[in-house]
Amino acid sequence: MKSQEIRKSFLEFFQGKSHSIVPSAPMVLKDDPSLMFTNAGMVQFKEFFLGNSVPKNTRVTDSQKCLRVSGKHNDLEEVGHDTYHHTMFEMLGNWSFGDYFKEEAINWAWELLTHKFKIDKDSLYVSVFEGSEEDGVGLDTEALEIWKKIVPEDRIIYGNKKDNFWEMGDQGPCGPCSEIHVDIRSPEEKAEKPGKELVNADHPQVVEIWNLVFMQFNRKADGSLEELPAKHIDTGMGFERLCMVMQGKQSNYDTDVFTPLITEIEKITNSSYGTSEETNIAIRVIADHVRAVAFSIADGQLPSNTGAGYVIRRILRRAIRYGFTFLNTKEPFIYKLVDCTKSQMGEAFPELVKQQQLIENVIKEEELSFLRTLEQGLVMLENIVTQSKDKEISGVKAFELYDTFGFPIDLTALILKEKGYSLNIAEFEAELKKQKERSRAATQVSSGDWEEINEVDEDAFVGYDQLETQVKIAKYRKVETKKQGTLYQIVFTKTPFYPEGGGQVGDKGYLTSGEEKISIIDTKKESNQIIHFAKKLPQNISGSFTAVVDASARTKTAANHTATHLLHQALRHILGTHVEQKGSMVQPNYMRFDFSHFSKLSSEEIEKVEQFVNDRIQEGLQLEEQRNIAYQHALDQGAIALFGEKYGDSVRAIRFGESMELCGGTHVKNTADIWYFKITGESAVASGIRRIEAITGDAVKEYFTKQTELLEEVQGLLKNAKDPVKAISGLQDENADLKKQVEALLKDKTKNLKSEIKNEIQEINGIQFLAKKVDLDAGGIKDLAFQLGGEIDDLFLLFGTEQKGKALLSCYISKELVETKDLNAGTIVRELGKYIQGGGGGQPFFATAGGKNPAGIPEALKEAKKYIE
Ligand SMILES: [Zn+2]
Repeated sequence: MKSQEIRKSFLEFFQGKSHSIVPSAPMVLKDDPSLMFTNAGMVQFKEFFLGNSVPKNTRVTDSQKCLRVSGKHNDLEEVGHDTYHHTMFEMLGNWSFGDYFKEEAINWAWELLTHKFKIDKDSLYVSVFEGSEEDGVGLDTEALEIWKKIVPEDRIIYGNKKDNFWEMGDQGPCGPCSEIHVDIRSPEEKAEKPGKELVNADHPQVVEIWNLVFMQFNRKADGSLEELPAKHIDTGMGFERLCMVMQGKQSNYDTDVFTPLITEIEKITNSSYGTSEETNIAIRVIADHVRAVAFSIADGQLPSNTGAGYVIRRILRRAIRYGFTFLNTKEPFIYKLVDCTKSQMGEAFPELVKQQQLIENVIKEEELSFLRTLEQGLVMLENIVTQSKDKEISGVKAFELYDTFGFPIDLTALILKEKGYSLNIAEFEAELKKQKERSRAATQVSSGDWEEINEVDEDAFVGYDQLETQVKIAKYRKVETKKQGTLYQIVFTKTPFYPEGGGQVGDKGYLTSGEEKISIIDTKKESNQIIHFAKKLPQNISGSFTAVVDASARTKTAANHTATHLLHQALRHILGTHVEQKGSMVQPNYMRFDFSHFSKLSSEEIEKVEQFVNDRIQEGLQLEEQRNIAYQHALDQGAIALFGEKYGDSVRAIRFGESMELCGGTHVKNTADIWYFKITGESAVASGIRRIEAITGDAVKEYFTKQTELLEEVQGLLKNAKDPVKAISGLQDENADLKKQVEALLKDKTKNLKSEIKNEIQEINGIQFLAKKVDLDAGGIKDLAFQLGGEIDDLFLLFGTEQKGKALLSCYISKELVETKDLNAGTIVRELGKYIQGGGGGQPFFATAGGKNPAGIPEALKEAKKYIE
């Protein structure tokens, strides 16, 4: 069975058991403060397990794209070394939200694997939770009894808490699980050692394929467990691994999920999978990583230096580095694999098809820049080696190279080894550990249990219509943060506060009752509940309060949000419909908008865009809001949806004239409320992605006031010239003339100096020698030396000069001397550099050294003679 059919059969099997098929959620998470990537199928359903929302369907099935770069087996640096772990993978799952439980979950899993997929029963092992004394939970007899009816008892394994108890995090829903393992070894190997002994022992051919999690407990902050009122099923089956088993392969990379990619890599890099372990690892790394990177970019996450973007950059750079080191690729090539990835996965994940060009551009640009880094790193490493006094290179130096320039440590080690040097790896590890501790300390957070007081209202968010409302506290908890110290997270029964999301900042404001007033410093959304952040709790926690949003900030933010929609419309109108939104940031005093477009905007284009938006503002377009319409219905009306965004069945559509978008943000009632739109910046974020920064309303007033002040200041400097532009261009012309004159004078000076110097050259041992302090800049000295070299044979020159408090030594040696007398200008300046407290280098016939001690120049000049005596 082909991989595409396997995915389809899985989903159809559960559809036949009354499950609805739901699409994969984005792999990159946008508005979840606790997680950067979807790392398991359950992430998009967290809110149902936590009881924060009620699901429309209690039985669903899906194939979720996941990314893991940390954890026991998914440490990024390990992926590719074995044949069954990945960064990006698909997780097939079936879900029950308070519907069926263990009986159905177990029986259906067995039916699917052994009847529909025809996997040999005798190659399967199952596990049940043996219980845990510290948690006061016994053996999972319920699961055991069900399994006993379908599997011989000697194929049932009793697993401990580590293997058979699943937890969402330190706190929250959890429960025992049953894993299904498969033994795909040859009959001979099976006869030698029973598979049962190899379960959970990291054997590549005895692997877990499906985990059935029975969520029945809630883990509290103090570590104790309580029974959940509604019990859930969460199952996860690794798609790539299932394909391996069903296609009778020994490695995930031998299935048709990966073979087309591997063939393509072999073709492009002129290598061959299977020839050596190094080549195999490199090819697996690249095949795995290109998928992870392509899907992330399709979800709107570009490589960058922070957060999720940094993870993507590290993954991509790792692939580049394996290609560079083991497949000898010195040119970008990974972007060429996107086409193959698209052919493989495009049907199930259409975002790859739609965004292919962007993905290729971004990867290619990143490849080019990292290959440059690698080249530079090689030069710097060369310098480190030349300057090293012994054969061991310091780990601190290697860490600098790694940390500041992104030069990979394994490459450093490899190159040093080739040169006969060793690396102090312990020193490097120590530096790395220090850095990790620094970043961990910066982010560490701990949180207490939620104290529940009241139920949250059904439609808790009232902020589209109200900026203040009467509320009670539904629940709260205390959290410790590094940056802000102790904070309280508070959930109200209902709230006018907009939680950060869709690029728009969270509302600020206060909570008040009588004399008491508590500031709300931020609002965020987590697992579908709106969390308000405060530095303290109100005295009477169970009382009634007025929740009041900072209206001035909200009004300004709304103006900026509406402006992003009009800007989006303007860009598509003026540049073309290839423009896709790639991110936005909407604050009270500022907005920015990232979008796909392949060249810099000209000033005419910027003007047109600005004009277009301001025309819409002038038209005074009324807000038309449809709060609960069907997703498909909204699209049919022409609403724009964004890639990498998760939409429910029912959505909110925002229209201003011809602009219509799916959006959860807050907006002005009429575009006239924006007052004026002004672009303040246009730049590149990445290849094929541009960024526009802009302001509206009061911020524009301030902007124009500042511009006027600036102009007045310039006029002041120009002695109130009537036409400042003319005055400045006059100054520029004058400056250019003066520069020319200075250059001519310097040339004359060099000429005079040259004839003066010619008279001073002495012959020593057949060498024309001069060591002299001169008053010229570096360029002048070089010119002079080469001119003299062209006229005089067997020449040895050493010039010293002092410029702005720094010393410079320049050494010129005729080529014939370099060869016959074994002289080397590079070595000489390096050695003489110590007199001026500096160093340098260059070629054997010309080299320079800079230093910070001009007083040492005479000594250096005096020492020069010893090289020819
Ligand atoms: Zn919006």
